[in-house]
Amino acid sequence: MTRPARLTVLSGPSGVGKGSVIAAVRRRHHQVWLSVSVTTRAPRPGETDGVEYHFVDDDEFARMVAAGELLEHASYAGSSYGTPRRPVEDKLAAGVPALLEIELQGARLVRAAMPDARLVFLAPPSFDELARRLTGRGTEDDERVRRRLDLARIEMAAEDEFDDLIVNDDIESAADRLVALMEITP
Ligand code: 5GP
Repeated sequence: MTRPARLTVLSGPSGVGKGSVIAAVRRRHHQVWLSVSVTTRAPRPGETDGVEYHFVDDDEFARMVAAGELLEHASYAGSSYGTPRRPVEDKLAAGVPALLEIELQGARLVRAAMPDARLVFLAPPSFDELARRLTGRGTEDDERVRRRLDLARIEMAAEDEFDDLIVNDDIESAADRLVALMEITP
């Protein structure tokens, strides 16, 4: 029987570079599977339904919650986000290393539901650097950037709850550390 693979949760404030670090890991290790979340937020330019997210409306999100289809879910900056349960369970049972890229409340819920999961916090080199990255990304207007920076302060205060901390001062070295923590076998 295949030994269930480990589930790794990568969390950290918006703008810290979770997506870039995960992309670097997956370029090197194609077998790593990344969960595609459901969200009620509107797609950003360039985002495709089913790729970055499954984009759903509030009713469909509520239906999925009520039906127990989400492993965890949380509200973040006025939208809802959640991890479809079934694909995660299937991948883990098949021995595929799985990654969730989610925010703090969701990470806490995964810890409660799956105590074997490894929780990794990706931190910026400094708060000022995070503010620069989030503003420079240009995907959010000023009000939304402010809201995300307020949430970032809360998330950064919770980093001690995580099993491991990676400072993202360089994408490739952060990816090296994540690969090591995931114990991926080549
Ligand atoms: P964004 O709107 O920038 O794509 O994501 C906002 C935040 O929601 C990010 O911190 C991202 O990691 C988090 N997020 C994305 N998908 C999920 C999910 O399925 N569950 C939870 N709890 N957070 C998520």
